[in-house]
Amino acid sequence: MAKERKPNTCSFCGESKPNMFSGIGGALICTDCIEAGHELVAAMPKEAGNTAKDLDFENLPTPQKIKDFLDQYVIGQEEAKRFLSVAVYNHYKRLLQEITNDDVEIEKSNILLVGSTGTGKTLLARTIAKMLKVPFAITDATSLTQAGYVGEDVENILVRLLQDANYDVRKAEKGIVFIDEIDKISRKSENMSITRDVSGEGVQQALLKMLEGSVVNVPPQGGRKHPDQEFIHINTANILFICGGAFEGIERKIAQRLHTQVIGFTAQQETEHLDKNNLIQYIAPQDLKSYGLIPEIIGRLPVLTHLDPLDHDALRAILTQPKNALTKQYQKLLAMDNVTLVFEDEALDYIVDKALEYNLGARGLRGLMEAVMTDLMFELPNHRKIGPQTFTVTKEYASRKLERIDLYRMQNAV
Ligand code: ADP
Repeated sequence: MAKERKPNTCSFCGESKPNMFSGIGGALICTDCIEAGHELVAAMPKEAGNTAKDLDFENLPTPQKIKDFLDQYVIGQEEAKRFLSVAVYNHYKRLLQEITNDDVEIEKSNILLVGSTGTGKTLLARTIAKMLKVPFAITDATSLTQAGYVGEDVENILVRLLQDANYDVRKAEKGIVFIDEIDKISRKSENMSITRDVSGEGVQQALLKMLEGSVVNVPPQGGRKHPDQEFIHINTANILFICGGAFEGIERKIAQRLHTQVIGFTAQQETEHLDKNNLIQYIAPQDLKSYGLIPEIIGRLPVLTHLDPLDHDALRAILTQPKNALTKQYQKLLAMDNVTLVFEDEALDYIVDKALEYNLGARGLRGLMEAVMTDLMFELPNHRKIGPQTFTVTKEYASRKLERIDLYRMQNAV
């Protein structure tokens, strides 16, 4: 039989305290128990799971809104932005779909971005996650191996997502995972290590389950699985996977396909319309198959789009236009030292020309700018008490600074 509680004592600790709150049926709680309860709740893992609050249709940004946001950070790449915006919108619609009896089930819209390295694949994925405020993890497919081989288990991708979600499983289950260098696990790729799954196909098979949606046992701290470990179960059905790859040399496969396609009917005219300098824009699923991705993986990445190579204008815009463009960052840094920093157009053109000449791409712009700016950032703060100053970076100044460094060595760094 339950013990009778003495009158005017706390229903939880049983003690009589000066300040108590009463509840229904004469229950009482003392302030100490309230505090202890509060601490317990605060220490509990956060339960998000509130779909309505995290995500509801009213607040779901439209594809146009998503693209507008991407435009603030990513230069060019119009097609990729449009495809990505629609795919992400549909993905979250799918999460919000009402279970109806009409048997129409919206399928997952995982995405594959194909384009040379440094053209903005990771940046696009990261920016989408930032906009949606969902957990985000980046992983490199080259580090993954089939279970039993040296390297990382495929499940470790989800460990990172879980960490980004602060171990809130339900939040992680609505996150975005970016898998870079997916082309490196194609069947024919050569692997450096003999201990690794040589074909890459084993990794593709392991990834497949995760991409299509399954409950995966994840070791909470990452690392290799072992039998006595406790696992966290993560359902990947609602995780959006964005894969990226340079697929170097795939232009040859595209050209072959386009060539054989047009043979048979009046070929000449058809091929003349093609932009031979940017064949990647004609990429189709069958090219990925010829490259060595297994058809099942291709099927699980139904949204296929490409990124354009970055030309002079694009690189020039990357320097100045994005919300956190490099020039804006240096201007902000030096403004704190009372210096107004001005970049001459010719100086920026010169830096972009160097990036193109040495094939440094967008990633190399940062190194070039650092080389131009370091001496200034060292010297100008010495004069910050003098009062406001202006410094103009001219082409002459930039070339003097860049002459001193070995740009060939920079190639290996990007
Ligand atoms: P990828 O994943 O295609 O190899 P990233 O997205 O990592 O390339 O790009 C490397 C860096 O170059 C980015 O962090 C960004 O600073 C810059 N960058 C590349 N492409 C763009 C772009 N289209 N617009 C703005 N910045 C870009």
